[in-house]
Amino acid sequence: MATYKAPLDEIGFVLFDVLGYETAVRPLPGFGEAGADLVRPALEEAGRLCEEVLLPLNRGGDEEGCRFENGVVRTPDGFKAAYDAFAAGGWSGLALDPAHRGQGLPRTLHFAVMEMICSANLAFGIYPGLSHGAADALHLHGTEDQKALYLPRLASGEWTGTMCLTEPQCGTDLGLIRTKAVPDGEGAYSVTGTKIFISCGEHDLADNILHLVLAKLPDAPAGTRGISLFLVPKVLVGDDGSLSERNGVRCGGIENKMGIHASATCTMHFDEAKGFLVGGAHGGMKAMFTMMNAARLAVAIQGLGVAETACQTAVAYAKERRQGRALSGAKEPEAAADPIIVHPDVRRMLLTMRSQVDAARVLACWTGMELDAATRHPDPERRKRADDFVALMTPILKAHLTDLGTECANTAMQVLGGHGYVREWGVEQLVRDARIAQIYEGTNGIQALDLVGRKLPQGTGRLLRRFFHPLDAFIKEHEADPCLAPMTGALKKAAERLRGATLTIARKGLSDPEEAGAAASDYLRLFALTAMAWAHAKTVVAVLPRAGEPFGQRKIALATFYMTKVLPETGALFARIMAGKGPVMGLEAEAF
Ligand SMILES: Cc1cc2nc3c(=O)[nH]c(=O)nc-3n(C[C@H](O)[C@H](O)[C@H](O)COP(=O)(O)OP(=O)(O)OC[C@H]3O[C@@H](n4cnc5c(N)ncnc54)[C@H](O)[C@@H]3O)c2cc1C
Repeated sequence: MATYKAPLDEIGFVLFDVLGYETAVRPLPGFGEAGADLVRPALEEAGRLCEEVLLPLNRGGDEEGCRFENGVVRTPDGFKAAYDAFAAGGWSGLALDPAHRGQGLPRTLHFAVMEMICSANLAFGIYPGLSHGAADALHLHGTEDQKALYLPRLASGEWTGTMCLTEPQCGTDLGLIRTKAVPDGEGAYSVTGTKIFISCGEHDLADNILHLVLAKLPDAPAGTRGISLFLVPKVLVGDDGSLSERNGVRCGGIENKMGIHASATCTMHFDEAKGFLVGGAHGGMKAMFTMMNAARLAVAIQGLGVAETACQTAVAYAKERRQGRALSGAKEPEAAADPIIVHPDVRRMLLTMRSQVDAARVLACWTGMELDAATRHPDPERRKRADDFVALMTPILKAHLTDLGTECANTAMQVLGGHGYVREWGVEQLVRDARIAQIYEGTNGIQALDLVGRKLPQGTGRLLRRFFHPLDAFIKEHEADPCLAPMTGALKKAAERLRGATLTIARKGLSDPEEAGAAASDYLRLFALTAMAWAHAKTVVAVLPRAGEPFGQRKIALATFYMTKVLPETGALFARIMAGKGPVMGLEAEAF
């Protein structure tokens, strides 16, 4: 089994010391009671649930997987009891509206809890993660009646949610959707079509499943402008919330897949199923984007969660496994060999993981805090700035943190050698589980296109200014401090590369979109690596008063490693971006 201990001290340090939670989040309306005295025990409680309930189920869940029997999906042994414990603990509605039985706690806390859940058992985390996304969409786009009827049951965990976009002929390109919705003359719609790859489309964890389905009305314009969103319950619901008859929706089977075996990936058939319009007619993409943006951040957290477990497992193994001697002479001459953590190459791998995971957590929590400010801050201008920051960071976090999940799982396997490749230590499961996060919720390539095609030009660069202005101010504030000079110097150089790449892409992309498309993935990575450098620099600022303690020394060592061994990759990325589209687009398709 993989090694995992909830990193409570680390999360607490990031929230309270690096990001100033008490002054940034607690003063927001409605969060007065959500201070450190509530957040720390809540994190401890979540950590216990993850370590004691979810982690022990992870291996069995992978080996047993979900089973499809006569139209019903059975989750692996122990999942139902774990889900009940999760719901009873109030975790399903952690950040949902208290007006609808949610706990109304900050997204920041929700992000931290989700990270621990995904570290312990990624497949389990997908069920409540989707319910949260469905609740968000209903909260923002549903009618008052829909909210009153459905939100309390999502918040309590009695019911779960799904997101039904994909069809056999329609993956990335949602304009190709064929599922139809026809008005039934009584204010509802009759929904017909087949959706594939639907996570948690059918299962035995909850009494009802609320499918949020993209479909087209008969008069729909072509393409994505013609998409509408419908709520299609598995079991129809009376006005008082009681369950009545089964709706015309059924699961046709589940996928055999590489990882996340305990998360059911379902083919769903909608056969004149009763559906209810959410948001306006043809307004489906707007409503679905609410869900997708929340889901993209949730998937980013999945990557972070797996990366943390991979890192912990690799460190534990490297301290235990003995092979060879330290190059500087035996470290433990009384033993037959030294632990492999003495070897520079093993340390390189461990530090590459740890320095990136810690910075990724800062970015994730920071974005969570801005999400809270975007919805709660009393000043509309501040809300707008926060909203812009979240919009900019969403594709960056989705792609980069899920890449990190896979990179760390693979690096952990390398640290464990052959013992990583066999099942015992749980690392091969991490590799298999992590991989999907780079694909679903919009592939990482599509995130990069979202960044360069949508976020970069938005408001003539307004979103970028939300990043660059405070970054420049940060560098200016700290560059004269000799203790911080190595950090600010490296950060400044990366920021210059990012700025140069931004200008080039913006200029070339205007006249030739293929130029932007060819640079997009490199640009996203350059952006992410620069943002993580900023996260490290912020961390060092926060830890300077503790520079003499082991904790402070560790943080400074990690930041130094990152700035000198990871961040230089920005130079290569910059060069690749500057090479333009020629080397990518020159070859005719037939010549491949
Ligand atoms: C385990 C699992 C769970 C899933 N859960 C859900 C779910 O709950 N709900 C749901 O609706 N879907 C779900 N999906 C579907 C998932 O979101 C899609 O697989 C994903 O969006 C990619 O679509 P596709 O597989 O059809 O690939 P395609 O769209 O065919 O893409 C193939 C490749 O082409 C690239 N590509 C495509 N178009 C472009 C473009 N315009 N520019 C540049 N590159 C492009 C892609 O980046 C990718 O590399 C799930 C899939 C899996 C495997």
